Amino acid sequence: MPLRAIAPADPESGPRRDSAARLSGYLDALDQGVLVIDGTGRVIIETGPARAVLAGLGHDPALGRPARSLLRLLAATTGSGLRETVHRIRGARDEDRPAEYEITACGRTVSVRVRAMPDGWTVSLEDVSARRAVEAGTAELARLDSLTGLANRRMLRERLGESLDRLDRYGEPCAVLLIDLDRFKPVNDTLGHAVGDALLVKVADRLRSAVRAADTVARIGGDEFVVIQAGAACQEDVAVLARRLVDLVGRTYIVDGQLLTIGASVGAALAPQDGTDADRLLKHADLALYRAKLDGRGTFRFFEPEMDVRMQARRRLELDIRQALARREFVLHYQPQMNLENRRLTGCEALLRWMHPERGTVPPAEFIPLAEEVGLIVPIGEWVIRQACRDAATWPAGISVAVNVSPAQFKSERLVETIVSALAMSGLEASCLEIEITEGVLLQNNERTLETLHRLRALGVRVSMDDFGTGYSSLSYLRSFPFDKIKIDRSFVKDLSTKPDGDAIIRAIAGLGRSLGMTTVAEGVETEEQMRRIRADGCTDVQGYLVSRPVPLDLVMKLLSP
Ligand code: C2E
Ligand code: MG
Ligand code: MG
Repeated sequence: MPLRAIAPADPESGPRRDSAARLSGYLDALDQGVLVIDGTGRVIIETGPARAVLAGLGHDPALGRPARSLLRLLAATTGSGLRETVHRIRGARDEDRPAEYEITACGRTVSVRVRAMPDGWTVSLEDVSARRAVEAGTAELARLDSLTGLANRRMLRERLGESLDRLDRYGEPCAVLLIDLDRFKPVNDTLGHAVGDALLVKVADRLRSAVRAADTVARIGGDEFVVIQAGAACQEDVAVLARRLVDLVGRTYIVDGQLLTIGASVGAALAPQDGTDADRLLKHADLALYRAKLDGRGTFRFFEPEMDVRMQARRRLELDIRQALARREFVLHYQPQMNLENRRLTGCEALLRWMHPERGTVPPAEFIPLAEEVGLIVPIGEWVIRQACRDAATWPAGISVAVNVSPAQFKSERLVETIVSALAMSGLEASCLEIEITEGVLLQNNERTLETLHRLRALGVRVSMDDFGTGYSSLSYLRSFPFDKIKIDRSFVKDLSTKPDGDAIIRAIAGLGRSLGMTTVAEGVETEEQMRRIRADGCTDVQGYLVSRPVPLDLVMKLLSP
């Protein structure tokens, strides 16, 4: 116990003062406040935290040294006289156990432990207000977010209610800013929850520092925050704050010795123009936030009435897609691919169609993007894989089926399982199943994606690169995985008739495929002329309306077995 080493004598003298200063620096790092008092009642060590705790109790340093005022406080709160208190503390020395008190003043509760030393006392002080409040289950704490100390959802509701009340009574406007962190999830997932929590606390501090005392900052979900901006009269008032929030949150953090950067997207709604009740305001801020996220994150948007209309249409579509699966409204059409050498059909691509009871046949472009966004592509994609395998198992031997697989399906981890079980249940040879992926698949979590692709490959499933040439770095992706097939995007075939050097690109891709040992299929071939040209350019296969449009199963069966 290093405290024993402190002599009570003259703290002003050289070496002792040095060691006291050193020790006090060390003690400053503790959460508890520490005072060391000598036998004459003089304070020889008083740490920063101790001063802070005493200040919380309303102790004014100008009124005297802490030892004296502490005794006064103790006496006052224990209801005993000063003399009695001193006596008790002295008694602590005799009994060799600390005297413990709890002092409540100025709304704070402080636990005080006085331990007698042979030549004085050490006093530890701890502000236990928060703990006591939790124990007492007080309303205040139930309204705070336990991690960040910000308002929680409940308190947000109350505060928003009060703000709207002021709007009603005095015409004082306000704004609601919904803040969602960008790229927080990867931090939390890869570095662990402890780092994620520490980061959230720092974000909370920055948000708090950005607003005025009359504003409210709340945390309402994992990485979702809300600011109620009091008195925000116009969009510019709100924009100033929103910009500040985006900027502050986007600055680098150091957590656990690591540099981290995240961003913030903000959606804002103003009262009264965007709504005068809490639910509407929050909903409208949420729509604006959604827009901000779509527009590239790290930015803010105000609510606009059209957002509501568009969102309702999306919701309806989403609901419709959910039901479509259960109502068996999806069907697969098949489009054959033909080998240019022997003019035989080698396989078919499965293309999803939605037979909507009112809208008729809905093409994939109108629902797959939304299905991907809301995660519905995973169950739909599973259905496609199973159905395609079942159908292809009835085709003549050696004819393969190609299935389009979305990035989201690679994320879900169930892809390999699904394919293994679909092959087993249908009895289709693995070598007759082909999956088509686009650059988007390789853009995400590359290592895990590649591992999945290799596992599929090991099963005997073939892998094609779809829409080749439309992405940013198609060439480098060709190097990252040994694809079986390159599907040259339709746009290059279209260019054949319009651009003088249209052949050059197709010829280059076909040459690349040949030297890498990959089949090259030209997509979207509609005319004899296009077919002649792509053949001369060196493509091995063709897919397009010229051979056949995508057709239902019974029709494709006829094409496959003439
Ligand atoms: P994709 O995989 O590139 O499919 C080829 C698209 O080109 C199909 O459009 C096909 O009908 C069309 N096409 C074929 N030959 C010609 C032609 O000669 N001329 C023209 N103008 N178009 C031709 P579709 O069926 O509308 O599908 C569009 C996209 O939707 C597909 O592009 C694919 O990315 C996606 N998709 C279709 N089915 C599925 C599915 O089951 N799952 C997933 N994830 N995506 C799918
Ligand atoms: Mg495809
Ligand atoms: Mg394609």
